[in-house]
Amino acid sequence: MTTDEKSYLLSTIRDVPDFPKPGIVFKDITTLLNNENAFGLLMDELVKRYEPMNLDFIAGIESRGFIFGAALASRLKTGFVPIRKKGKLPFTTVSEKYSLEYGIDEIEMHIDAFRDKESPKVLLIDDLIATGGTAEAACRLIKTLKADLVEAAFIIELGFLNGKEKILKHTNFYSVLEIE
Ligand code: AMP
Repeated sequence: MTTDEKSYLLSTIRDVPDFPKPGIVFKDITTLLNNENAFGLLMDELVKRYEPMNLDFIAGIESRGFIFGAALASRLKTGFVPIRKKGKLPFTTVSEKYSLEYGIDEIEMHIDAFRDKESPKVLLIDDLIATGGTAEAACRLIKTLKADLVEAAFIIELGFLNGKEKILKHTNFYSVLEIE
């Protein structure tokens, strides 16, 4: 993707100050999604990168990771697996805890999410990586199920929070747009 294309995509993402709490600048991707040129350009880029990797599954983190993950899975003809907050999945789950600024959270996957595939090739995706706590827990979760986690991909990386370092302990890292 060219620098101009990246600048264009960034220009379609809306900054909402002080959401969900004072001091946070929320990166609102709904303004990228409702723009057919931006959404199309982004998905074409992801297809180009991941088509040659012959993935078996794309795992998306609740909830905005579902949007990009499911759209990409459909384009690549892979399965899609949701990684959800604790208590949302109806069948037997495996779970991982992770630390937040205040307290602890937990994410889950269905125990049979990758069906009976031997060492399935999996891509993890979310809309944004900040501290990397959520995505790191998701990496551990995917590996618990004996999958081959090929890469973790993010549309936006908040570079100043160094989340990338946490991911690189587990798998390859890719972000489409980096915000310094
Ligand atoms: P973290 O675990 O700190 O990397 O946080 C990542 C999760 O929180 C992702 O699912 C993001 O969608 C969400 N998130 C964190 N910070 C922001 C932000 N500034 N704007 C939008 N979403 C955010």
